[in-house]
Amino acid sequence: MKLNTALLHGVQNAFDPTGSTLPPVYQASAFAHESAEKLEKVFGNKAPGFAYTRISNPTVAAFEKRLAYIEGGADAVSCASGMAAIAMALLNILQSGDEVVSGSGLFGGTLDLLEDLKSFGIGTRFVRNVTAEEIEQSVTPRTKVIFAELIGNPRLDVVDIRQIAAVAEKYKIPLIIDSTSATPALVNPLAHGASIVVHSSSKYINGSGDAISGVIVDGGRFDWDFKKFPALAKYRPMGKLAYTARLRQDIWRNFGPCLAPQNAYLNCIGLETMGIRMERLCANALALAEFLSETGALDNVNYPGLEESPYKPLVESQMQNGMGGAILTVRAGSKEKAFALINGLKYAHIATNIGDVRTLVIHPASTIYAHSTGEQKQSAGVYDDLIRISIGLEDIEDLKEDFAQAIQKMKKGD
Ligand SMILES: *Cc1c(COP(=O)(O)O)cnc(C)c1O
Repeated sequence: MKLNTALLHGVQNAFDPTGSTLPPVYQASAFAHESAEKLEKVFGNKAPGFAYTRISNPTVAAFEKRLAYIEGGADAVSCASGMAAIAMALLNILQSGDEVVSGSGLFGGTLDLLEDLKSFGIGTRFVRNVTAEEIEQSVTPRTKVIFAELIGNPRLDVVDIRQIAAVAEKYKIPLIIDSTSATPALVNPLAHGASIVVHSSSKYINGSGDAISGVIVDGGRFDWDFKKFPALAKYRPMGKLAYTARLRQDIWRNFGPCLAPQNAYLNCIGLETMGIRMERLCANALALAEFLSETGALDNVNYPGLEESPYKPLVESQMQNGMGGAILTVRAGSKEKAFALINGLKYAHIATNIGDVRTLVIHPASTIYAHSTGEQKQSAGVYDDLIRISIGLEDIEDLKEDFAQAIQKMKKGD
């Protein structure tokens, strides 16, 4: 099956006897059973079934199955948000004294989270560029995870997964990839050697900007060394599935960041059209980037799919159909000009999100990175005049016209 067929037919809805084409919304906190013996078995994972929605729920399970299938993973665990997914993905294996090696071009919330983890004794070494060389230089005996965003949001640097996976393999460290801005429509990081993939499914997977959620997909191929990762030792009998076993039976269950059934349902709907949405979004992003670059009115039109981008060859070789994602950034010259351009747009909403059906724009420095230091902003590629554009499904001619008139307005304000 190719992607769009797989999104519709890859996983049969095993839970519903009525033939409902979508998983029903099981909007219940608890599931009753015919006997105390049966509930005992369900609780102890000795019989299939559901007990309590924080632990599992049929609608949530339907979403997880679909996503695991489409990412080529062994299992997927969904969370209330992308941030919860990243936090759980890390805390599932990290202990006080451990270190993360990470790219510095990270989503603002993730930078803040890594800062929060310091007070739990978990440190992070940031590399300026996510290359095998720089990553390897930062690996120490304390390193337990390599973490990177596949397409950095908003720096838009693209990671060569195979290169980084080779370093991870050499040091027997799992590679966790945040693939939010790439999506499974562009690439399956697990197939390129990543151990675990996380998504903010609030974005392109949901696709309509109508529910916050996150997901952790375990490739099920990483060979856990239970001395190096003592947190997983209890799950040794699960072998390569020890990571997900601990999530489900300990960390994720006990922190309690479960996904709401209604939101899982909305994600199931969104996921079905992800393939065609990404095609259109990436085509729009490329066309707008080319248009803005040709006008010459703005500095630094940054889009990985542009001919002049240093990431173009990698986008061609690593991403499906050479698609470069649906985010581009431009620099307006100053914060004032950036605000003028943003305010002059007719169609783009001024909002902090990506992966909506509509075009969204934001000035990251004054919003998402408001808590970051100057140095953090610099290495995340967040300049004072930077505008992030999350392309929507509008007709490209309308978008071009809109940006052209907003640029004219901005110039008149000079
Ligand atoms: C949005 C985003 C997150 C956080 O996800 P939420 O669903 O907002 O919690 C993490 N990583 C990236 C790359 C994102 O774009």
